[in-house]
Amino acid sequence: MQSICPKCGAPTEEGLCRECTLQSTQLYSLPGYVEVVICSVCGARQIKGKWQLPDSRPVEELASQAAADALWLHKDFEEPQIDIDLIKIGATRYMARISIRGRFHGHEMEERCEIPVRIKLVACERCSRIAGKYFQSTVQVRGNDTRSMTDSEIEECKKIANSMAEAGYHGGDQLSFIQEMKEVKGGLDIILGSTQLGRRLARSIQERFGGKFLETCKLVGKKENRDVFRSTLLVRFPRLRRGDIISYRGMLYLVAGFDGKTTLIASLREGRRSSLSEENSEVVPILGNRADAKRAMVISVDDDVLEIMDPVSYRSALASRPRGLSVQPGEEVNVVRTADGFVVL
Ligand SMILES: [Zn+2]
Ligand SMILES: [Zn+2]
Repeated sequence: MQSICPKCGAPTEEGLCRECTLQSTQLYSLPGYVEVVICSVCGARQIKGKWQLPDSRPVEELASQAAADALWLHKDFEEPQIDIDLIKIGATRYMARISIRGRFHGHEMEERCEIPVRIKLVACERCSRIAGKYFQSTVQVRGNDTRSMTDSEIEECKKIANSMAEAGYHGGDQLSFIQEMKEVKGGLDIILGSTQLGRRLARSIQERFGGKFLETCKLVGKKENRDVFRSTLLVRFPRLRRGDIISYRGMLYLVAGFDGKTTLIASLREGRRSSLSEENSEVVPILGNRADAKRAMVISVDDDVLEIMDPVSYRSALASRPRGLSVQPGEEVNVVRTADGFVVL
């Protein structure tokens, strides 16, 4: 049955005609403008008050994205296709011209609209704290009475710190940054944006190198009525280093790692694993370190003994043969020179 549109009088199936239905329905809406907040230092973008990780997308792409995100479409808009034409109108201003195509209640629709996009450059929380020399904790890594940290230990600690700070930042901790790393007498100071990062770093350095870990906290003031603390985490390295060759109960062992205050060792002859108490690790003789190993040519092979060529003097020397090492004369092995002669690794 044909009827008449109550609004315009045109013939219609039922109720308002198609023209009047479309006119009275809001198909899309846009706010008056949209703002893109970007850190001028690191390029991070703020979304809904939260700083995101910086990405390599150009500003134009972020502006177009912000315009698209600001667009609201009627839920009955089917298969909407949105095209954005971005026009630069100032140093930090753009106009996003939006065209929307799709189907609405079975009819092809095309709408056009535009929205100003403003780029707001600020310093993000992280960058302003870095610039303001902000820090919450200091990890102090030190040698001990018998030895100071080696260069390679210092380098390795720096590497661990860099990768942990990076991982924490990517995990969402804005304060996961290194304010400064400085080599000081006896070791390394690592100054950090967050106490949480400090604790994790100190623990992971201790896991890697062994030794002791001591945390102290100091009240440094009040902020918004809350006490502000700074923590100092002291990691003191043990006497033994990973890779040290030690003599223990008449046998040679290699320091394999640490578990709290216990030193994990493996016998050089059989590879059998064992451990050393804190007391023993303070006194066992250290003969050398795996890091000082050199290649040496094997001259002859016996069941228990290898005759090798001293890699420095080229004279022949004897070394005990690790069980299970299969080697032929003419091949090379790794040796460490110790006060008690060569040790084959
Ligand atoms: Zn009508
Ligand atoms: Zn930033």
